Amino acid sequence: MWQEIDMEDVVVIGAGISGLTAAHKLQKSGYRVLVVDKSRGLGGRLATRRVGSTAIDHGCRYLKPFADSALSPIPSLLQSGVLQPWRPETFALEADGSLSATSTETLYTAPKGMSAIAKALASGLSIHRHWRATALTRLPHGWQIEGEALSADSFNQPSSIEARAVVVALPAAQAAALLDKAARQNGDIERLLEQLQTVEFEPAITVMAGFSLNQSASLSIQKTSDGWMVASDTHPVLRWAALDSSKRTDPQESVVVVHSSPAFAANNIDRSDLESVGQELLAATAESLAAWIGSPTCMQIHRWRYGFVRQPLGASVLSSPVLPNFVGCGDWCLGKNVEGAIASGDRAAKLIAAALK
Ligand SMILES: Cc1cc2nc3c(=O)[nH]c(=O)nc-3n(C[C@H](O)[C@H](O)[C@H](O)COP(=O)(O)OP(=O)(O)OC[C@H]3O[C@@H](n4cnc5c(N)ncnc54)[C@H](O)[C@@H]3O)c2cc1C
Repeated sequence: MWQEIDMEDVVVIGAGISGLTAAHKLQKSGYRVLVVDKSRGLGGRLATRRVGSTAIDHGCRYLKPFADSALSPIPSLLQSGVLQPWRPETFALEADGSLSATSTETLYTAPKGMSAIAKALASGLSIHRHWRATALTRLPHGWQIEGEALSADSFNQPSSIEARAVVVALPAAQAAALLDKAARQNGDIERLLEQLQTVEFEPAITVMAGFSLNQSASLSIQKTSDGWMVASDTHPVLRWAALDSSKRTDPQESVVVVHSSPAFAANNIDRSDLESVGQELLAATAESLAAWIGSPTCMQIHRWRYGFVRQPLGASVLSSPVLPNFVGCGDWCLGKNVEGAIASGDRAAKLIAAALK
């Protein structure tokens, strides 16, 4: 007896904000959508680590008001209580270590952690977590997505899924690895791969450092106790640092998050003594900002191999008129941040819906 193949309308690979945006819109339009992600959590670089009862944003820091308000999830997320305004004192750090006060527009953060934004968008979607896509194959009627279960939670998932259309919502280098096999058999896919290879990302190393609440958590030039954030485009070691615990409603400890400069990350990302890398980053932060930052009670480190987009694709999505049921999307297309990722996911959904009609 022939076994009937259960075919999805669309498989979205990647449950970051771009993939979830595409999946949400396609499902709302009536398509049968399955999302797969290699991680256990949702949101990709909209990432929150939980240490005990403390939430720490070690990826995306905040949302800014969107240039294109029609795409902005901020009003509805404020209404549902997922987001709240965050108004830290802001400072610019120069290459020579000097610090000066700056002003910034209102920022928006999630008291429960930035991954709450992804969780809100994922509600009602079918998602295979801990399932890593390994290869795509073009079929006469769609695509085959091969993958592997990464934990006991996902062992009951199939090793191959078929779909009429596919959205690849991964950082460009990871999307390229997925297309590699298919590109060797198909010139149109090879041309997509060549476009993907023009995209460049910058790495980042992130330190999350905890301090007791009664330890001073302010900076000497700070005027209020509402929290602070420091940004730099030129410092050799630091890109950004902030009092992450000032985003929470009832913090139990003070938490500082520090993101390294791209140069520091490029030089240190493959070191095996990650703990020492974190200490070096924290020591540089303490030297520039405040001595107490050098003596945390606990510390965690995260490596972002594909952290920030340096060279985008220059188009809202990766697509080809001869492969209408394939779209690549993400912040690397046009935008470099959450707004860009949402705009790209939105465009991907429109193109796939048109192809499936
Ligand atoms: C440290 C840091 C701070 C940032 N701060 C801000 C900020 O303050 N404001 C802002 O707007 N933006 C910020 N950004 C950028 C923002 O986080 C990204 O632009 C946005 O989250 C990208 O979303 P995405 O969906 O394109 O990709 P991602 O979030 O990278 O999602 C890709 C998903 O694909 C999954 N995946 C990868 N490979 C596979 C595979 N083979 N199979 C299945 N799943 C796979 C990953 O697990 C991930 O969930 C920051 C980024 C970093 C790293």
